[in-house]
Amino acid sequence: MRILVIGGGGREHALVWKIAQSPLVDKIFCVPGNPGISKYADCKNMDIEKNFDMLVRFATDENIDLTVVGPEDPLANGIVDYFEERGLKIFGPSKLATEIESSKVFSKDLMLKYNIPTAKGEKFRDPDEAKSYLYKVGAPIVVKADGLAKGKGAFPCRDLESALKAIDTIMIEKEFGESGDKVIIEEFMEGEEASFIAFTDGKTIKPMPSAQDHKPIFDGDKGPNTGGMGAYSPAPVVTDEVHKIIMREIMEPTIKGMSIEGRPYKGVLYAGLMITDGKPRVVEFNARMGDPETQAVLPRLKSDIVPIIQACIDGTLDKVQIECIEEPAVCVVMASGGYPGKYEKGKIINGLKEAESMENVIIFHAGTAKNGDNIVTSGGRVLGVTALGKSIKDAIELAYKAVNKISFDNAYFRKDIGYRAL
Ligand code: AMP
Repeated sequence: MRILVIGGGGREHALVWKIAQSPLVDKIFCVPGNPGISKYADCKNMDIEKNFDMLVRFATDENIDLTVVGPEDPLANGIVDYFEERGLKIFGPSKLATEIESSKVFSKDLMLKYNIPTAKGEKFRDPDEAKSYLYKVGAPIVVKADGLAKGKGAFPCRDLESALKAIDTIMIEKEFGESGDKVIIEEFMEGEEASFIAFTDGKTIKPMPSAQDHKPIFDGDKGPNTGGMGAYSPAPVVTDEVHKIIMREIMEPTIKGMSIEGRPYKGVLYAGLMITDGKPRVVEFNARMGDPETQAVLPRLKSDIVPIIQACIDGTLDKVQIECIEEPAVCVVMASGGYPGKYEKGKIINGLKEAESMENVIIFHAGTAKNGDNIVTSGGRVLGVTALGKSIKDAIELAYKAVNKISFDNAYFRKDIGYRAL
């Protein structure tokens, strides 16, 4: 088979790495890819967010059998509809189904309609009305931009002042553009978070191992949210009992609800959860795999991923087994100093080869580029350093051993990834 992967971050490196292990695969292409991905795939630099015509032409010219979409933006812009209308096989939800991620208002309404447990929330179009409501309910409270915001559109606020400021950031300063035309103001849920990621063909749901990411930039989960500074799998908070509740009360009614709404859901459904006293509630849905959770989860997937993806598209997921290994995995993200604010690019990365040669360590590239013979930084999140261990503690130690072999000017990483699982 000839496979095209769309995206060029750490998640897509993990996807390509896993797909490359499939005996069914002859050749992989990745658009735009990155220097890490280029070890397994031919990388082509093309626009992936809007110019689907070029991608369709590329897929047709290269006789691509299957396209796999990593990031949310092309999904939200309808890449799956565009490919399917032209007879091309593609993995991911349609534009309408992706609204479960791309509109927090839609997903909140869906959860209310189908009794899916989540935080109570109100939606607002008008910043003054949003602020009056905030004065009425007070803090702690969470303010969220309605649309996509690269994982940075949610503001959990412990005091009223920061909640009012979040309204200005989202609705007045328009930090996330149109995504901030509407906001959701919701109850601040206390508890422990976990990510639940499952494959689905619209009827059958097959989960992958649970995971947990660390969104805030600083140790102790402090500071502003980022795209994710690290992840581990499994998340001990997802016990067998919690797993059953998540499937019964969240995943199944969501997939059923989407089908009733005329938005049949095929692809990966990711539920970001808050677990309070053994009860899971939805923080958000994503219409694709998480980044960096994927870098901790896919190394634990024993089964070939390609037949799973094909079964999701063909509606035969009930016939496929998903097997995983017991060993936990931890992914530590190395970022450019300054991220999620301003940061410099073009710093030479040293020690990659040495870290890569370590047993049970995989280095996933995210914001990297090639400059002559050097690999240099080219984004906020630069690398995801994943390690597998006999225990979560072993995996954490090994991941940090590998991190310490890698260096670049102003490198920043959290020192406490996985600490909650210990
Ligand atoms: P989201 O973009 O909706 O995934 O939110 C990003 C992060 O903000 C989550 O991973 C949580 O840590 C936090 N968050 C979002 N909504 C809530 C909530 N209702 N209660 C507490 N924390 C939340």
